[in-house]
Amino acid sequence: MSQFGPEYVRAIAPYQAGKPISEVAREFGLDEANIVKLASNENPFGVPESSKQAMAAAAAELGRYPDANGFELKAALSKRYDVPADWITLGNGSNDILEIAAHAFVQKGEAVVYSQYSFAVYALATQGVGGRAIVVPAREFGHDLDAMAAAIDGDTRLVYIANPNNPTGTFIAASHIEAFLTKVPSNVVVVLDEAYNEYLAPEHQFESAQWVRKYPNLVVSRTFSKAYGLAGLRVGFAIAQPIVTDLMNRIRQPFNVNSLAQAAAIAALNDKAFLEQGAKNNAEGYLQLTAAFDELGLEYVPSYGNFVLVKVGNDDGAGARVNLALLQQGVIVRPVGAYGLPQWLRISIGLPGENATFIAALKKALG
Ligand SMILES: *Cc1c(COP(=O)(O)O)cnc(C)c1O
Repeated sequence: MSQFGPEYVRAIAPYQAGKPISEVAREFGLDEANIVKLASNENPFGVPESSKQAMAAAAAELGRYPDANGFELKAALSKRYDVPADWITLGNGSNDILEIAAHAFVQKGEAVVYSQYSFAVYALATQGVGGRAIVVPAREFGHDLDAMAAAIDGDTRLVYIANPNNPTGTFIAASHIEAFLTKVPSNVVVVLDEAYNEYLAPEHQFESAQWVRKYPNLVVSRTFSKAYGLAGLRVGFAIAQPIVTDLMNRIRQPFNVNSLAQAAAIAALNDKAFLEQGAKNNAEGYLQLTAAFDELGLEYVPSYGNFVLVKVGNDDGAGARVNLALLQQGVIVRPVGAYGLPQWLRISIGLPGENATFIAALKKALG
């Protein structure tokens, strides 16, 4: 144990990211071109063409600092979500937003409420500020909002909710979230993390961005990493009332979203066709994967995101064992033992051919 830093920093278990393709190629002696990565909920179509063009144009100005205030991107978001530009905080990915919220609203010893099996970064952000985590047991792999409301104590300053949730894919209807918001004390900030919102079917979509008008303690968090295909660029944003936004901006690094990312995000935001293509592929891929799971008799959690959590065995070694057998065949998925789900794997939905490669490899892996 090092003698450096506070105890709460030394206690942090580092985030385990999906393995990069190059690493798997080296470790298993495989050709990168034959590797299928369905591990990090990335968009299988990659970067939109419109964003590539915008980045090429912006590249000429890379000698200068980015616009610290993200004027054009905020203007585009303001229009898209019908909120004033000064209600928007830009993030280096929405991960940055989640961290900024912890730094802005929680001091050492104060509490943060989040759900069991919710996104790993909530725990990291809480620990990073020396916060006390109140982890509320999940209900059917999703958030138990009644129990979360009841868990808020006098020291609680922040609540994280993922909708849809990662890694389980569960979804909470608008009416339930609003009922929860009415119960939360006004001095507790609620971060509603909607990283997969764009994948929701139209009947499940709701204008959460408009709720911030009604709830001064609500922060809606979104990202360009998933449906918009810009994970490598790191762009996310938050919508909240100006008092909350102002505090988050004091914590934010001045140049946290780089110039290429700002340009690419504006283009992607206006690229309806790209989002539609992604949503269609996702819906079809979900059916492709779950049909295979049904055929194999594997339990899975119905998912509203671009991934599926599937149970690959009944012993606690199952996830790691099947994961290794998949890696040996050049298929990268996400083990979720660190989430307390050692019998499960999370599979990102890919292109039809990638899904088929995974299904064939899974059949072999299960013997
Ligand atoms: C992927 C993800 C994010 C963060 O993505 P960024 O790339 O940092 O924007 C946030 N929340 C959830 C639930 C996610 O799955």
